[in-house]
Amino acid sequence: MSDAAASTPLLEQYAGVKAQYPGHLVLFRVGDFFETFGDDAKLLSRELDVVLTARAPDRDGARTPMAGVPHHAVETYLGRLVKKGYKVALCDQVEDARLAKGLVRREVTRVVSPGTVLEEGILGGPEHSFLACAVTGTDGRGAVSCVDVTTGEWYRATADVPGLDGLLTALAPFRPREILWSVPAGAGEATLLGALRREFPGARLEPAPPAVDDGELPADFPPAEPGRPHQAEADRRLLHYLRTAQPRLVPFLRPEAGGHEPRRLTLDPKTLRHLEIVRPMNPDDPSGPTLLSAVDATGTAMGRRTLALWLTNPLADPSAILERQEAVEALRLQGAALDELRSELRGLPDLARMATRIAGRRTRPTEVSAWREGLERAAGVAERLPPPSGSLRLERLRESSRPPEPLVELLRAALPEAVPASAEEGPLFRTGYRPEIDAWRDRERAAIAALAELERVEQERTGIKTLKIGYNQVFGYYLEVTRPHLARVPPEYRRRQTVAQAERFTSERLDELEREMRVATEGARSAEAEQWERLLSEIDRWVPSVHRLSAALGELDVLAGFAHVAQTRAVVRPIVDESGELQIREGRHPALEASLGARFVPNDVELDPKERRLLVLTGPNMSGKSTYMRQIGLLVVLAQCGAWVPARYARVGLVTQLFTRMGFTDEIGRGKSSFMVEMTEVAEILAAADDRSLVLLDEVGRGTSTFDGLAIAWATLRHLHDVTRSRTVLATHYHQLTELIAALPAARNAHLAVAETADGIVFLHRLVPGSTDRSYGVHVARLAGVPEDVLAEADRLLRRLEAGGVPLPSRGRARSRGTGYTQAVLVPTSDPASDEIRSTLARTDPDRLTPEEALRTLRSLRERALDRSSDPDPSP
Ligand code: ADP
Ligand code: MG
Repeated sequence: MSDAAASTPLLEQYAGVKAQYPGHLVLFRVGDFFETFGDDAKLLSRELDVVLTARAPDRDGARTPMAGVPHHAVETYLGRLVKKGYKVALCDQVEDARLAKGLVRREVTRVVSPGTVLEEGILGGPEHSFLACAVTGTDGRGAVSCVDVTTGEWYRATADVPGLDGLLTALAPFRPREILWSVPAGAGEATLLGALRREFPGARLEPAPPAVDDGELPADFPPAEPGRPHQAEADRRLLHYLRTAQPRLVPFLRPEAGGHEPRRLTLDPKTLRHLEIVRPMNPDDPSGPTLLSAVDATGTAMGRRTLALWLTNPLADPSAILERQEAVEALRLQGAALDELRSELRGLPDLARMATRIAGRRTRPTEVSAWREGLERAAGVAERLPPPSGSLRLERLRESSRPPEPLVELLRAALPEAVPASAEEGPLFRTGYRPEIDAWRDRERAAIAALAELERVEQERTGIKTLKIGYNQVFGYYLEVTRPHLARVPPEYRRRQTVAQAERFTSERLDELEREMRVATEGARSAEAEQWERLLSEIDRWVPSVHRLSAALGELDVLAGFAHVAQTRAVVRPIVDESGELQIREGRHPALEASLGARFVPNDVELDPKERRLLVLTGPNMSGKSTYMRQIGLLVVLAQCGAWVPARYARVGLVTQLFTRMGFTDEIGRGKSSFMVEMTEVAEILAAADDRSLVLLDEVGRGTSTFDGLAIAWATLRHLHDVTRSRTVLATHYHQLTELIAALPAARNAHLAVAETADGIVFLHRLVPGSTDRSYGVHVARLAGVPEDVLAEADRLLRRLEAGGVPLPSRGRARSRGTGYTQAVLVPTSDPASDEIRSTLARTDPDRLTPEEALRTLRSLRERALDRSSDPDPSP
């Protein structure tokens, strides 16, 4: 019975599966398609742009919407759904539709979600794919556990400060693709969700399942550090989720035993974004330059992942940094031998993910074969390491980058040189590996030989030289005799099929051989299948070792990349110590330098805890203030990762927290006014900063009136100078600040120099001591292409303002005072446009507008104002 006729039972079966998999998009196999019904069909049709149809009307005449994708292309569609953040349950037919009595049995055979997918095609690149569980307790404190199921890495992070910011900062370096969240009832669920959505726009969010009990923890699961109940809870909730999403992998996913990790430099989500560490800030240009792209010289997927994780989690432990530096130094001194090591690394496939796909049984024989080759190659990597050089780290890596010999032996013994693309075809195993498989293969070969022999015997016996034995899918083996020879066909032949030029027969002996052939082929196939599963379970034992091996190779790859940069670029090994100083000579911005090359102007940095904690930076727009500040942050990050930095000399007194506040271009759409956002950020920084912090402030107090803003900027600086005593750089247009800071003994002024030439100004991008009070705003506006008449007008006004003259246009001033009748006489024409503008303004409450609304209102006001362009010049 076909499913199409049984409309209602099929939909009932579908509804049953949906009920078992709440929150999943269920793709339901019907014939050659994976279908969805009802609302899910509409969703699928919208998201994948596939046709929405409807099933035949049921008894009541209702037509259920239906949309589906062809089963052979389901991987592609799965990939697209997962990228869009859906969790998909694939419900397949688990019995042959032709043999089924009634409805075909169907079961969910696969669940795919953004944070648990293993398939290379869906993962879409070597980057980490983290699934996170974020937990906040009733005390407001939080913890996160992040697992990359594809590599077996499991990280824990406890929030340093209570509240949302602590939690977001703990999560940010991992950029999870899927986040399970948990807050105590009534503790700001909506706020948390809003913040998660904003910080991790691509991530799938889902309430975390309950924690597993003690008894359900996998054997020897390392406990979280004592005194961190939220961390343990995050682990256990994550385990609960993994048990249903990736049950096969649970045994391979383990955090490192806690308590021994070196201290990290805290980078909050805004800093990660502003400094463009691994992702460009402009979402429209996802391949824009980042710190990662500027310093990446890795050759493997493992290395690329490790580098991204290092850059977002720099160290704050001088001895750990020194250890990395010594390894880089030892590799750097290798000279040309370093290239050999790097090219050996470049040949390695993604060993970790392949191992995981084996453990998850989502692999193919060809991949296992490539994995074997990769493991064999990995043995060559350790051989190319420099001789013992005193680098502890390198010595440890020499040990841990060796592939487990028994595993390589096992694979070598089992797999043939070339493995067929499809497991069905075989042979999957090397001859001699398993006698039972060989026996089946022998029988198969004997049957083939017997067929050839039969053909020869029959040709001789019948005298038909052209008699042939052939095979086709429908009739099996046959003896073929062409028409002219039909008379000589022996009587015991039975006719099977007639074709154009010949008749096809069978005989008792041929039937017998056919049966033998089938038995042998089937036997070989099932023996291989059984053996294949046995091989994979034997490999399972080695998966954790290969995960560790991959981590070691990834680290080696990063260090070798750092060493390569150290060999080939104008970089210097920074001194990282506890001094609290920050001295950089001729530093360069790593990403900008990559695009500007020699045109990039290097600059110095000079901060120290006693004399020069705080630097106020002035200079016109476009002079390089923001670049300079970002550059400082980036060089500190690089130095504390163990990398060489683009400078002639660098000394970095350890930074434990790096804060940035920059512009507000990316804040539109947050539903708060930009000034509110700015003040929130300043408040966060002031609350958390200390004397080990580096604070980079690109403008403070710009979103409000001049005096307000200046006052706030001043008070902020004073607090950073006197109370937190953080190293601070502030860029500002408030020239008054440069004078006010004379009261702060450890504050200095600097500006970015500009040269005035006959044709206008030239930005030198060079930092010089002291302040500047020239903004050159009009010059910059000219560079930007603002029309000459506007510039001339602005120039005139500027000069009057600077001379202290009264600038307000008389008519505007009269109106602003709201004078009545005389004004009406002076301006006799009734002016509906300006009345409208006024009444719109009066109705508008700036405090209740979102930034977009404010922009929209402003634009429409301006349009109306321009309609009145016939107005005379208001200036006297
Ligand atoms: P500001 O913040 O002062 O407005 P930016 O830092 O945004 O200026 O710099 C504006 C542009 O000037 C940059 O996009 C870059 O092209 C150029 N620039 C900045 N610093 C340098 C430098 N040190 N050397 C060369 N070009 C620079
Ligand atoms: Mg700027």
